Amino acid sequence: MTLSNESREGLKISLLAEKSRLENELSRFADKTDIPGEYQARFEEIGTDRDDNATEVEQYADNLALEENLEGQLTEVSGALARLDDGTYGTCVTCGADIEQGRLHAYPSAKECMVCLKKEG
Ligand SMILES: [Zn+2]
Repeated sequence: MTLSNESREGLKISLLAEKSRLENELSRFADKTDIPGEYQARFEEIGTDRDDNATEVEQYADNLALEENLEGQLTEVSGALARLDDGTYGTCVTCGADIEQGRLHAYPSAKECMVCLKKEG
């Protein structure tokens, strides 16, 4: 991989910041489970009448969708950090080519190069 140490450090800082942002966001409405990186949306009790119950269910459904989305991002960020540690960071997981540096700076958790991304898209 042709990333300079400086780029690598900068990307690591971005990834760590993104990771704590996602964890903070998740902790607002979800609890950690025993499985690392897995969260469970909380069911918030608002009240006992029918309107309250409807709101609770609605909110829970929203939280579940959001939790899934944030958890997916968190998994990508954690994966990128793990690849930084094991030295495979910046290499496309699909074709093995170097991922474009511009892409890594725009999207530090990228695990595929632009070519593979376009093929799938
Ligand atoms: Zn590729």
